[in-house]
Amino acid sequence: MPYKVLDIYRDLPRTNCGDCGKGSCFAFASAVYLEGLALSSCPHLEPSARAEMEARLAEGRARGEGRRPDSSEQALRFLLTKVAAADFEALARGSGAGYDPGPPEALEFPFLGVPHRVTRTDVTASAGEAPTVWVKIFLLIYATRSSGAPPAGEWVAYRSLPNAVSKSKSFEAVGERIGGAFEGRLGELDAAAARLGGRPAGFGSPDRSYVFDALPRVPVLLLFWDRQEGFPSRASLLLDGGVLDSLDQEAIVFLAEAFGNRLTGKSLAELVA
Ligand code: SF4
Repeated sequence: MPYKVLDIYRDLPRTNCGDCGKGSCFAFASAVYLEGLALSSCPHLEPSARAEMEARLAEGRARGEGRRPDSSEQALRFLLTKVAAADFEALARGSGAGYDPGPPEALEFPFLGVPHRVTRTDVTASAGEAPTVWVKIFLLIYATRSSGAPPAGEWVAYRSLPNAVSKSKSFEAVGERIGGAFEGRLGELDAAAARLGGRPAGFGSPDRSYVFDALPRVPVLLLFWDRQEGFPSRASLLLDGGVLDSLDQEAIVFLAEAFGNRLTGKSLAELVA
């Protein structure tokens, strides 16, 4: 029997809680089927149910169903081909990266506080977990897209960007996740924000507001309201109005998910752009 996206979806808890880093159980099922995302990324699956699903997926893959083989590797290869022929000094000016003349020539810039290095053949991190293929793709998109324009200096919601509505639920799920993770834990939020280099933004109405330099030309504003009189805590992520000079809509959602994972102490290993 085939075991495809809808079948996987039916076997999930279907609460759309977002704890897997996806905006919904259906998005998770799609990523499992098409991208090979591990079922263990859903923390709400009973081990026995998960084992049964994994067995059915493995049977399907043996029949040639599912994961598009090497789609991420193909995207990475394409972007590395692009940077292989690029003027690195121009890329450094555009992206705000440091330029190392090498050899090998390299761009150096922090991503969520961790220094990364882009050469003509690879992307590496100088600390923490090694970048996944998706992180590499994301950083190469940033390095090759950034126009060099300074931030616009006004904060906007993701859904107000052109052509962003279809992905806005995934973006906003990150805010919901952060809101839930730090409910009643303002001190822990302060510590987590400090670890990511967050600076108090001084907004009056939320309980906390921080600005993060997610990338040299991509600031992110986090607003957090703790629970109050029967209302649960909530959080919002806002972007600089010029963010599309540096990232496309899909890459911005990936950035938000990576930010949410980093802030809540999770790995980036399960994120799929
Ligand atoms: S973690 Fe993801 S797949 Fe699991 S129930 Fe929540 S949204 Fe659905």
